[in-house]
Amino acid sequence: MALKNATLKKWLICGAAFCAAFNAAAQNAEARATVPLPFYNLHTKQAMVIHHASGKAVSKEINDFMRDHRRNEPANMDSRLFDLLVDLKAAIEKRHPHIKVKFETISAYRAPQTNEMLRSKGGSQATQSRHMHGDAIDIRVPGLTTKELRDIATCLRRGGVGYYAADGFVHVDIDRVRYWPSHDYLATLKCK
Ligand SMILES: [Zn+2]
Repeated sequence: MALKNATLKKWLICGAAFCAAFNAAAQNAEARATVPLPFYNLHTKQAMVIHHASGKAVSKEINDFMRDHRRNEPANMDSRLFDLLVDLKAAIEKRHPHIKVKFETISAYRAPQTNEMLRSKGGSQATQSRHMHGDAIDIRVPGLTTKELRDIATCLRRGGVGYYAADGFVHVDIDRVRYWPSHDYLATLKCK
């Protein structure tokens, strides 16, 4: 009986050790798949590091952070936009290893009313702006020129890339691949 108990005890300990190792491996895998995305909103002056993993639901905190600041209306962000930003961050760091990427945000979610208001004031907002769908963001990255950011975003060949040289930001979205205001730079663009 004593032997049986010892065997049982050993089995339980091994079982627990196996579970611990299994859990640690699972946690490591999750940590590897989770990428920190630092943001700073230039309008609200708020900062947030979003820990994004592909397929992860967008939290209330993120939707609040990405809100339409003019109406204080929370966003309903598309998780796939953060997949794109994870890849954009990796592409920037590959080309410019000295840059610690932070996305300074000019505009994320825009309520339809805000979009219309900005348009009526002569802004360049599209009638069907992707910002209203929570799958677009206007950003700049300190350390990168607007042109460099545009080129790296273009080389991903995913979604829309808008170049706003005068205002110093780049629009990216996860809609179909397209570029504006001009396609001219594509002819000489070097993607490595
Ligand atoms: Zn935009």
